[in-house]
Amino acid sequence: MPEAISLASRVTQIAPSPTLAVNAKAKALKAAGADILNFSVGEPDFDTPAHVSAAGKKAIDDGHTRYTAVPGIPELRQAVADRFRADHGWSYSAEQVQICCGGKHGLYNVFQAVLNPGDEVLIPAPYWVSYPPMVQLAGGVPVIVPLEEKDNFDLNPEILGRYATERTRMIVINSPSNPTGSLLSAGALEAIGKMALEKGWLVISDDIYETITYLDGKLPHILDVDARLKEQTVLMNGVSKSFAMTGWRIGYAAGPEHIIKAMNKIQSQSTSNPSSPAQYAALAALTGPQDFPAEMLKAFRPRRDFFVADLRSIPGVSCVNPEGAFYVFPNFSAYYGKSFQGKPINGSVALADYFLDEAQVASVPGAAFGADPFVRFSFATSMEVIEKGMQRIKEALARLT
Ligand SMILES: *Cc1c(COP(=O)(O)O)cnc(C)c1O
Repeated sequence: MPEAISLASRVTQIAPSPTLAVNAKAKALKAAGADILNFSVGEPDFDTPAHVSAAGKKAIDDGHTRYTAVPGIPELRQAVADRFRADHGWSYSAEQVQICCGGKHGLYNVFQAVLNPGDEVLIPAPYWVSYPPMVQLAGGVPVIVPLEEKDNFDLNPEILGRYATERTRMIVINSPSNPTGSLLSAGALEAIGKMALEKGWLVISDDIYETITYLDGKLPHILDVDARLKEQTVLMNGVSKSFAMTGWRIGYAAGPEHIIKAMNKIQSQSTSNPSSPAQYAALAALTGPQDFPAEMLKAFRPRRDFFVADLRSIPGVSCVNPEGAFYVFPNFSAYYGKSFQGKPINGSVALADYFLDEAQVASVPGAAFGADPFVRFSFATSMEVIEKGMQRIKEALARLT
């Protein structure tokens, strides 16, 4: 038999998304009849608003079923620009906006458009799972900047300079954050902005959770630090989280026109336009009533409050109170080194496996986010499931010796 075809080194250096992998395993166990409580999911447990789905259906009936312009239909690019103006007072033209196949795709596009081999990208950790591999796929080098639980995972401005080198080209920020739910403070953003201006870095601001925050008052943002930063910032956003539209695959990016144009070039030679009916659905989302995220928050807040309080009641467990998104990120490291029936629990991967096998609770190990002391649980699920899951987690932890 001939040898199997070998693969590119670029693909052998990365792993598949661990969050999607855990979710797939949990779904498979559930399909096989196991009573799995799934906390691994990274999407709202809400249906897309009816008027948005209706707009998608109407688009199909109206014949919007062909290729569109590569960077999206002009109406949707304009609607994104209008939202930025209405919600934040930022002025972007439609040409400074790209519509892409989910926020994830926009991030992929921007790394491909800007990075050269060896360029370094600062990524605060805990980080969203896809940032480092996407940087690597573009030939870049992820440089991990640690955030501390004791700082509520805010960035300590004093350490930033330690990770910057002559080769630093970019920093990726995500506030509210997946997986921690934490925000970057105005002080941290000020430090990042100052350094970016001084060194000429590009700032990627992943704002996908901007509408899902428990904060009273305004969410601090990098563009509020200094107006000049608009020339060296790319905003990443989308309708996946804010309108419960994860399966529609519509994201958007905004930034300096030459970068957006370069991203459009990448998109034109890879995916072409995002799904045409989905763009019309997103248009309805962005131009219609904006109260949907607040509806979700009404459900999320009591779940968060219960989850955090109940986790903190477990001996040895600490948990930062998330100020946004729909995740809790408790620290279980006090249990590492214990074992179950002779099998050691030596870190977050072993603990999450133990939770799945022995408690039928699906979670995501912190190692996937570059933070092994922690495990991520999504509270985009019912209060009933959270209460039942917490009971099982407590019992499972008590069985460790
Ligand atoms: C969900 C998510 C995204 C993008 O999701 P899409 O479905 O691709 O729009 C981007 N960043 C973070 C941190 C996320 O959690």
